[in-house]
Amino acid sequence: MIQMPSLKEARLRKQKDVMVQTKQYIQDKSLSQLGKGKTYFIKTYGCQMNEHDSENIKALLEEMSFQETTDMEKADFILLNTCAIRENAHNKVFGFLGRVKNMKEKNPHVIAGICGCMAQEEVVVEEILQKYKWVDIVFGTHNIHHLPKLLHQIITQQEKEIEVYSKEGDIIENIPAKRDSKYKAWVNIMYGCDKFCTYCIVPYTRGKQRSRKKEDILKEVKQLIKEGYKEVTLLGQNVNAYGKDFNQNYKMENLLEDVALTGIDRIRFVTSHPWDFTDEMIHVIQKYQNIMPYIHLPIQSGSNTVLKRMGRRYTKEQYLTLFYKLKKNIPNCSITTDIIVGFPNETEEEFKETLDIVKECQFDSAFTFIFSKREGTPAARMEDSISIEEKNRRLQELNQLVNYYAKAANEKYLHKIVPVLIEGYSDKDKNKLVGYTDTMKLVNIKGDPSAIGNIVKVEITDVKTWSLDGKIVS
Ligand code: SF4
Repeated sequence: MIQMPSLKEARLRKQKDVMVQTKQYIQDKSLSQLGKGKTYFIKTYGCQMNEHDSENIKALLEEMSFQETTDMEKADFILLNTCAIRENAHNKVFGFLGRVKNMKEKNPHVIAGICGCMAQEEVVVEEILQKYKWVDIVFGTHNIHHLPKLLHQIITQQEKEIEVYSKEGDIIENIPAKRDSKYKAWVNIMYGCDKFCTYCIVPYTRGKQRSRKKEDILKEVKQLIKEGYKEVTLLGQNVNAYGKDFNQNYKMENLLEDVALTGIDRIRFVTSHPWDFTDEMIHVIQKYQNIMPYIHLPIQSGSNTVLKRMGRRYTKEQYLTLFYKLKKNIPNCSITTDIIVGFPNETEEEFKETLDIVKECQFDSAFTFIFSKREGTPAARMEDSISIEEKNRRLQELNQLVNYYAKAANEKYLHKIVPVLIEGYSDKDKNKLVGYTDTMKLVNIKGDPSAIGNIVKVEITDVKTWSLDGKIVS
């Protein structure tokens, strides 16, 4: 079966179809033994939405008796859950596909698949059909719950399955999740995005903004509490716009408050668009101790002319007003950001304005990127006279500044005692534990492993640019 994505369809936003269709995912019991004796390997690229999608996919596969392996060489089913946000993510996927091809040549029974945002791109799927004919399965972000059916077709009929829908999207409840952590969990509160920033592919790959019903979100959070989870991160491309697609007066501030009232220890939310961040939200964050004082607030550029070309809907002055409001009203709040350099025709002057805003805000940290042209977006058609060498130079200059302020922000923690949720052992040093402060600082810790899964007090003994060292004091 071949159902191709379509950029034209992905662009549509039919106002009459705003109603969210909520379907219930129901496990197909007849497929429960399909993967018996077989293993799967998933490689995930990109954002937290993708990570959580992979948690859903793992649970779907395990419902079919597949078992996870972290060794790709041993897998019967290899799936790449892809990201379309930047070209280098694309290149990494196509590079990795070379390794998968080698495996298929050695073991033709191996099933190779691609899903996620790249699978939603018409040009990508065309390329796969032409140059990567050995890929067995491609499915998109709208039909993860069809995976059991698609795999059944491949295994029993030896058919290639390409099923990608370019549509505004539904909300499918009840898809199970095999969560990576036992202590902190992603909870989707909305899908898609209607902002259409001119550089961004997400509104085309993830569909229209559609919020989950509060009852479903709260039910999920309460269940997580019962299972012993300490932290939830409310997920969406633009969580502050939660509820704007409903015809009711229930918005992000109301949801945040209701989630806070469940009593879960820690609540975070990503990602925030400055345009939708309201005073009411700030008031709720201030009111509840279990909403963490950490805000990721992408600015993207410090230049009003670039922000306008990006279609970001705010000026740097409006961003700064919000920034200072957050700093004033949420004590000890850490604020991080995203910045793009080298947007088409970004002048030196415009770039300097970005450096100026970084100097002014002194962000706790920033994810910095060179502009990446995404096929089908308005920015991909903009003229651009800035060379890649110059963009690289700007990125380096920006990174130096960002690193300086990240270290300076961390230095304020030296000798302080801070609450840390201990998540497990450090990847780099198995003699150390690792966790995050309420303000989202990574801490490597000396202490008793019995603290894993608990929020404990940690004294900070050393600081680095991207992490802290500490010891447990209670
Ligand atoms: S808000 Fe802008 S950058 Fe963020 S997902 Fe939506 S379109 Fe993309």
